[in-house]
Amino acid sequence: MTRRSPRRRPRVVHGNVAGKLSRRVYVCDRCGLWHGEKPKLTCQNAGCDHTVFLHFSSAAEARRFGELKLRILTGRIRDLELQPSYPLLVIRPDGKAKRIGVYKADFRYFDTVKDATVVEDVKGRVDTFMSKWKRRHAEAQYGVTINVVWS
Ligand SMILES: [Zn+2]
Repeated sequence: MTRRSPRRRPRVVHGNVAGKLSRRVYVCDRCGLWHGEKPKLTCQNAGCDHTVFLHFSSAAEARRFGELKLRILTGRIRDLELQPSYPLLVIRPDGKAKRIGVYKADFRYFDTVKDATVVEDVKGRVDTFMSKWKRRHAEAQYGVTINVVWS
């Protein structure tokens, strides 16, 4: 669900505060069980024993992934990609492009109802000034709209 209640309004912070607030989550690619740390060998779910895990940098991102997986099952979306990256370029005075950084979104997929590709940036509690800036740059350069999803 996309929630935008005023109570959960984003707090814009500077520096790497968001990274310190969020915890990493490893989700089993088969059963979907969450692990706080990367399991040494296999999934801790009894009887699963799967060895492939998806890594998410926050619980909000992992939650959103669960929601999107359900939407794939219902046919609402398809072609889900995790962490698509957008190299950020500027045009130098000599006309050549220079790469100045990269913006990593959280999800990209095709929405069959909207009939459009959707790019998502998932936020738990905070948004950073740098993250905002990179989104604006990527939107301007690639002509896409990046949806900020509070999960
Ligand atoms: Zn498992």
